[in-house]
Amino acid sequence: MISAEITRARPIGQDEILISWKFSQSLEDFRDYIFELQRSESSDSGYTTVFQFNHDTQYVDTIWYRKIWRSLFYRIVATQRSTSISAESTPHKLESLPNLEALEIVRRNNILLKNKRHGIGTPVAVFNLKTLGPKCLCWDVDKQRSRTSRCDDCFGSHIEGGYYAPIIGWANMTPDHKLIQLPQWGEMEPNEARIFFSNYPCLNPKDVIFNPDKMMFYTVEKVETSERRGFMLHQIISASCLDRGHVVYLLLGKYPELINELSSARDSIRNA
Ligand SMILES: [Zn+2]
Repeated sequence: MISAEITRARPIGQDEILISWKFSQSLEDFRDYIFELQRSESSDSGYTTVFQFNHDTQYVDTIWYRKIWRSLFYRIVATQRSTSISAESTPHKLESLPNLEALEIVRRNNILLKNKRHGIGTPVAVFNLKTLGPKCLCWDVDKQRSRTSRCDDCFGSHIEGGYYAPIIGWANMTPDHKLIQLPQWGEMEPNEARIFFSNYPCLNPKDVIFNPDKMMFYTVEKVETSERRGFMLHQIISASCLDRGHVVYLLLGKYPELINELSSARDSIRNA
């Protein structure tokens, strides 16, 4: 039985909670499962489903949690389709609420990125790398390597699907010293980039970012975060450009609507 345990449930804004989870290692087929993320004000009962998924690992729940005096709990129910057997994960309590100051910093960061007139951000697509799941069909078990360098199912990650569905986020592609307040700037290689994100979407090394302005993919090398009492405020990404022959460019073929979605994200701000 595949199960999923919630690893974090933390506020990322005034009315947004980011929930992330991990699947148990299993050789079973994910397609035989359906998972439900559920929320309740009590740890034992009253759960309602807020998100149904098959292999995602995070979700942003929109709820004005600060109005709620009691705690919030999340759990994941896994149901195997072929047997109808289901199992619940341990309830995970919403982690400590951010203080007002932290919320205000995040609110200002988001305005800085998205403001109609003075915004310095641009919509980009973030693809989180899959690290768990069945091996891709291109994987040669005997030789312990892939049979092709241009697999359009795993895009070189060797795990089926390769990356999770893209998340559109706002980023500043060339943050200046003042914005990122890092004393050690140092010399950058010509193909390197520093990218500023607010606290969502969450990035990790080896994730890839697509910037539609340059039609360019970047791979994340390093993530530096700034926190206030455990509450993430922003992320500074060190990334390098991938040349256009790289296999991840095939992701654009898998999500043909992505470029349109990115430009309508931009227009929605302009016309706001
Ligand atoms: Zn593959």
